Amino acid sequence: MRYEELYRRSIEQPEAFWAEQAKAIDWHVPPQRILDDSNPPFRRWFAGGETNLCHNAIDRHLAERGDQLALVAVSTETDVTREITYRELHREVNVFAAVLASLGVGRGDRVVVYMPNVAEAAFAMLACARIGAIHSVVFGGFAPHNLALRIDDAQPKLLVCADAGMRGGKVIPYKPLVDAACAEATTPPPKVLVVSRGLDPDAVRVPGRDVDYAELRARHEGADVPVEWLESNEPSYLLYTSGTTGKPKGVQRDVGGYAVAMALSMWAIYDVRAGQTMFTTSDVGWAVGHSYNVYGPLIAGATVLLYEGLPTNPDAGIWWRLCEKYRVRTMFSSPTAIRVLKKQDAAWLRRYDLSALKWLFLAGEPLDEPTAHWISEGIGKTVIDNYWQTETGWPVLTLMPGVELKPVRLGSPGLPSPGYRLRVIDEVTGRDAAPNEKGVLVIVPPLPPGCMTTVWRDDARFRSSYFSHFKELLYSSLDWAVRDEDGYTFILGRTDDVINVAGHRLGTREIEESVSTHAGVAEAAVVGVQDEIKGQVPVVFATLKASGVDEPARREAAAEMQQRVVDQLGGVARPARVYIVNALPKTRSGKLLRRSLQALAERRDPGDLSTLDDPNALEECRRALERGSDF
Ligand code: AMP
Repeated sequence: MRYEELYRRSIEQPEAFWAEQAKAIDWHVPPQRILDDSNPPFRRWFAGGETNLCHNAIDRHLAERGDQLALVAVSTETDVTREITYRELHREVNVFAAVLASLGVGRGDRVVVYMPNVAEAAFAMLACARIGAIHSVVFGGFAPHNLALRIDDAQPKLLVCADAGMRGGKVIPYKPLVDAACAEATTPPPKVLVVSRGLDPDAVRVPGRDVDYAELRARHEGADVPVEWLESNEPSYLLYTSGTTGKPKGVQRDVGGYAVAMALSMWAIYDVRAGQTMFTTSDVGWAVGHSYNVYGPLIAGATVLLYEGLPTNPDAGIWWRLCEKYRVRTMFSSPTAIRVLKKQDAAWLRRYDLSALKWLFLAGEPLDEPTAHWISEGIGKTVIDNYWQTETGWPVLTLMPGVELKPVRLGSPGLPSPGYRLRVIDEVTGRDAAPNEKGVLVIVPPLPPGCMTTVWRDDARFRSSYFSHFKELLYSSLDWAVRDEDGYTFILGRTDDVINVAGHRLGTREIEESVSTHAGVAEAAVVGVQDEIKGQVPVVFATLKASGVDEPARREAAAEMQQRVVDQLGGVARPARVYIVNALPKTRSGKLLRRSLQALAERRDPGDLSTLDDPNALEECRRALERGSDF
């Protein structure tokens, strides 16, 4: 089948199309209705159907591929490689599920998972899915404050963590961060399950609350935990993401729609089928990690590689060595990771046998042309840019080599995935933009299977965050885009105050709030500034309450602000530079002119300044930029 035919059918006959796709997974009770669209913008895919993600990811493969590798967890930090077959994965997940049940976790309960890329992170997720508990994985790079916010929103019955992670040979104890988050949270979890990697011997330390996984695992060895059949639209997991306010949104995913979308994306987009291997370099804490480090490849009966470590350790050939060793067919990474490799000797790209490797997918942030060229020429493979969001759970724009490889157009993530009815529309009038004219990328509801169903316990926020931007009921991606005559779409950046640091999405408001907790700070503006490696980095402009502060005091305050962000939000949000100024540029109505600041910091024209209240403020920021950062 050709791409156009598949796509057209998904749009013109969505129910027939998705009914066919739904056959790719096992149903305990078949769907009664393929699409219930009676209450937009909410929609229910495969209503009345009953299924289970863990059953589809593991149990149903046992008869045919019990001895095939399911998960290969490689850590170049601890120098441990674990090769786990489907049968072994089944055993481990059953034990983990029994442990969860013994701690009182059941259907509908939330479990926060705070772990690095170790096999147990996948066991924990799949075990939750098995018993109908809702996991909420929090990226291990997030600091206690961030973790506490997510705990308070999800109100988990249990938190599962590792004793520690490692980065570049340095042990990063997780447990003190968990303890701090639990102390800050209003509704801390009653139990904390600690998976010990032998990196922090004192990790299990709060009596009555902390429990040791190894101990419980031994007690439940050989357990057999039946799968809990869930209605297709029950929540499977939450994944928090940054928006324009300081409070992260709990993106909620369903069961049936997600399983079907995963199954389709695996063969049609990633071109990976049962028995083949996919290597995804993401962290399990991100959307890509959920979909293509765990659920997608396993639902497809494939082998998935999970990697903990830097792409350059022990040397810049490690990823390609793994591709050779495990005969990886499709690799999935990010532009930032490739830009890191680009600083290394290109000879590493040609040292290993990559004959099994067909495709390299890159997602999460704009893919610049030099990076795309460098890697595609270096490894001699097709590089495919992928555009999606935490909210969508799988690609919105991509090429689909599993169906038909359309020509790559550099700078564009390509064409719409099946089920996505996309438009580019004028921000003000809501009219369709002409080809090559800039507008906002929107999805015409119903959102396809796999996309978020709502914001956790906040339907109103789901509506207001995504569907209230235009007169018509449309999902706003909050990204600018242009579409050329052939339908290739180019993404031009966010319409809101979200920035993208090394593929990680951060709200500038969150960082501003964190900086403002410093007692000396009067006001702060945070903008995303272009960076050679990370795409963007956060840069702070702040005013102090005290006037006439001398340089040493300024430097000290700036360093403290930076540290505050690291402590509260984590290293991912660390401001690259802090500029202390006497005034911030604002409109007459008092709105911060972040865009003008960003333009100044990127040495661009600050744009229309007619609404500027005090021209001196902008001039001062310009001078501060010339003077150099205070930290
Ligand atoms: P996240 O939810 O963290 O995956 O971030 C989603 C945002 O990242 C999108 O709204 C885009 O702004 C950006 N993004 C993701 N993939 C791409 C891509 N391939 N090209 C350009 N921007 C992207």
